[in-house]
Amino acid sequence: MKPAPFIYHAPKTVEEAVTVLAEVASKDGRVLAGGQSLVPAMAFRLALPAHLVDINGVRGLDRLAVDGNDLSIGACVRHAAFHRPVTDGPLGALLSHVARHIAHYPIRTRGTFCGSLANADPASEWCLVAATLDAKMVARSVRGVRTIAATDYFQGAMTTALAADELLVEVRLPLLSTDTRFGFCEFSRRAGDFAIAMTLATYRLEKGVMTQPRVGVGGVEARPRRIAEAEAVLEGKRPAADVFRAAADIVARSIAPLGDIKYPSRYRRDVARAMTRRALESAAA
Ligand SMILES: Cc1cc2nc3c(=O)[nH]c(=O)nc-3n(C[C@H](O)[C@H](O)[C@H](O)COP(=O)(O)OP(=O)(O)OC[C@H]3O[C@@H](n4cnc5c(N)ncnc54)[C@H](O)[C@@H]3O)c2cc1C
Repeated sequence: MKPAPFIYHAPKTVEEAVTVLAEVASKDGRVLAGGQSLVPAMAFRLALPAHLVDINGVRGLDRLAVDGNDLSIGACVRHAAFHRPVTDGPLGALLSHVARHIAHYPIRTRGTFCGSLANADPASEWCLVAATLDAKMVARSVRGVRTIAATDYFQGAMTTALAADELLVEVRLPLLSTDTRFGFCEFSRRAGDFAIAMTLATYRLEKGVMTQPRVGVGGVEARPRRIAEAEAVLEGKRPAADVFRAAADIVARSIAPLGDIKYPSRYRRDVARAMTRRALESAAA
């Protein structure tokens, strides 16, 4: 199938982009970034935008840089930009490791980090990273700029706190201290498929014990989230198999997994338990 007709806009500046968005938001206007989710949806006529605001020519949106204590990721930064570490510390290594689990190479050269966050698929790897590391989302509109914390940003499956006339211009991820260990583990049927369940775990290793642990789970509920009960089990403990098993069991008890005909809820729960244990083991390795 071919997409339904639409009017195409190609702004050159952020100001132009948000001005056009303000005009077309109430007329089924949508932002076009990498097009790797929106264009297939249009081809299947699952999405019928009357206007597309293509941000690929907007100056400055491809910025990827360290800003103070954050890594700033502009709206046009592609998944493939993270294939190699973009910072010296653990954050660069973490992003590089995770990036390779997203779709396939050609999709990673077009799809954008911010597009994944705007799309908010429950099984998006970048959404899990943003939720686990407490990213900040920077949204622009003709009304001004606002920064949205990850806990407020993800509202449900494919649903975020972004208003229809807002452009997600930047995502800010906090840099990780050099003593941070991380582990990411994902299970999908085939390489490049969306995750059935995945876990990102980080902690600092100070004098042999784990501090500031973070355990985020994605692909199992409508939105990715940290599991505070599992983090509490890790805090102050030495990395050990029995501690990791206890945290993974708590994750399995704390989640309410989505179920479907292929992957029932109890199956996703078991996979999430296994992914959590393996992510923690990988962080300790
Ligand atoms: C075969 C296939 C396999 C895939 N596998 C995976 C996978 O394993 N993991 C994964 O995470 N993704 C996967 N994807 C999706 C891919 O990562 C997309 O690139 C991503 O979901 C959306 O980014 P995009 O830049 O392509 O956004 P687009 O498709 O251009 O837009 C997606 C949505 O977000 C909105 N949007 C985009 N950017 C902005 C912005 N800056 N501000 C406001 N709204 C915006 C659009 O209006 C649209 O509603 C896959 C896609 C395909 C086709």
